[in-house]
Amino acid sequence: MQVIETIADFRAARAALRGTLGLVPTMGFLHEGHLTLVRHASAANDHTAVSIFVNPTQFGPNEDFSAYPRDMERDLAMLRAEGVALVFAPPVAEIYPPEFQTYVEVIGVSQGLEGARRPGHFRGVATVVAKLFNVVQPTRAYFGQKDAQQVAVVRQMVRDLALPVELEIVPTVREADGLALSSRNAYLSPEQRAAAPVLYRALSNARDAYEHGERSAEMLRKIMRETLAAEPLAQVSYISAADADSLAELDGVEDRITRPVLLSLAVKIGQPTLIDNMIVGA
Ligand code: AMP
Repeated sequence: MQVIETIADFRAARAALRGTLGLVPTMGFLHEGHLTLVRHASAANDHTAVSIFVNPTQFGPNEDFSAYPRDMERDLAMLRAEGVALVFAPPVAEIYPPEFQTYVEVIGVSQGLEGARRPGHFRGVATVVAKLFNVVQPTRAYFGQKDAQQVAVVRQMVRDLALPVELEIVPTVREADGLALSSRNAYLSPEQRAAAPVLYRALSNARDAYEHGERSAEMLRKIMRETLAAEPLAQVSYISAADADSLAELDGVEDRITRPVLLSLAVKIGQPTLIDNMIVGA
């Protein structure tokens, strides 16, 4: 496994590879969710590349960029065990040198949900993903459904800019009690960790209601709201039932569900805000 820190060295290593290359972009502090993406990439491509880069431009001024958990040695050991060929782990100045002045902004699907909660977040995501695609030149790139709006933003960018990469979306990997794996789960105290599966329960209750015939988006939001209200440690940031393609919130005359719906939540439990989602009606 080659661990590479500069764009020039990565390009040289990439040029020496024959066949297809799968890319898994990450911010490190790897868990089974990331490794599941790596395994999908390895199964479908001749080689796998993983990027590890905590991207400063996708963090707001009051967010956890400096505190974001990092453990490069552990990450590299995990990736070595998976048979990954290339790891791209650049320092911040390699991606954002002092003269850097170009950003990628996807305007429509970036606006609600995480985009509203975290202004500028998806501009940072789209910019770094575009740059990683240009450096790595993957055949396919792997993203988790856990970050559903990120998937929508990257998909739109790839389409709009005709980027020559195939996107592969991998279902959310969960703990036995339903909590979606996330590097930010490391922030939870034992008591907060015990409360955190309430996101999954809220989504599951809404999905069950949908499967029993409920077709009002407002009713599905109400079911999620009531489930979350029963957990004292859960502070709701948003509860959404939105069109799964456009991410437009379903309300008013649009309330009746006739197309796939993205149910999504952002809930602060202790320090971190946890996010999760499910698609119904697909
Ligand atoms: P991150 O390191 O948080 O930026 O995540 C890197 C990639 O892993 C993103 O495409 C995430 O959506 C994906 N990912 C993170 N957690 C999970 C999970 N629990 N299940 C599936 N994919 C995940």
